[in-house]
Amino acid sequence: MSIKKLSEEEAFRVVGNFVKIPKQKFCESEEEVKNFASSLGFPVVLKAVGSKIVHKTEIGAVKIAYSSEELNNAIKKLFSIEGCEKILVQEFVKGIETILGVKKDETFGHIVLFGLGGIYTEIFKDVSLRVCPVTSEDAKEMLHELKAGKIFEGFRGIKVNKDEIINAIVGASKLAVEKNIVEMDINPLICNANGCFAVDVRIFLQE
Ligand code: ADP
Ligand code: MG
Repeated sequence: MSIKKLSEEEAFRVVGNFVKIPKQKFCESEEEVKNFASSLGFPVVLKAVGSKIVHKTEIGAVKIAYSSEELNNAIKKLFSIEGCEKILVQEFVKGIETILGVKKDETFGHIVLFGLGGIYTEIFKDVSLRVCPVTSEDAKEMLHELKAGKIFEGFRGIKVNKDEIINAIVGASKLAVEKNIVEMDINPLICNANGCFAVDVRIFLQE
């Protein structure tokens, strides 16, 4: 048995089964990036993608452009990064950055993880874990267990769609078992009043 990493395009298709995907396009030319970015409007997010690129921020492979000038500069920089095969152009999504992940553990089988995402995952280590498969009730408990749990209850006017977060956790847990996923990370999963949007996805499958 071998472990295979899905391409980002394939990984987004998989998670699209249980969370929303921002408006986005994998572009191969400068022209294509410009056309799609102009259809989205500013600000727009650009990322260098390629099979050899992993931690994008660390190598300057994620850019936010607020103007045509910034867009042009970003396109040149990203295409010049070693291993850049395409530029992923995404709409900018506002909201709370969370992490939704699944891992296959030798002892427990599949485990699902939900918590604060982006840089907060490493700083606060505020995450909940459960053995899969989980029910909606389990997912609700996972939210309540977080130190930052109040954020999901409409704290100080912050609005998130809690039902979608619960569906996302249940969906991830189900899919992990069905597809024998070794590891899946959606980080961040950006949550706002309109739902949960996967903006960065990594999936390893067992074949
Ligand atoms: P990596 O984890 O490989 O460094 P990400 O795609 O997660 O790259 O992007 C890094 C950070 O940029 C995210 O944690 C998030 O804060 C921000 N970001 C990425 N894509 C978007 C987006 N579409 N809308 C808003 N913020 C984004
Ligand atoms: Mg990320």
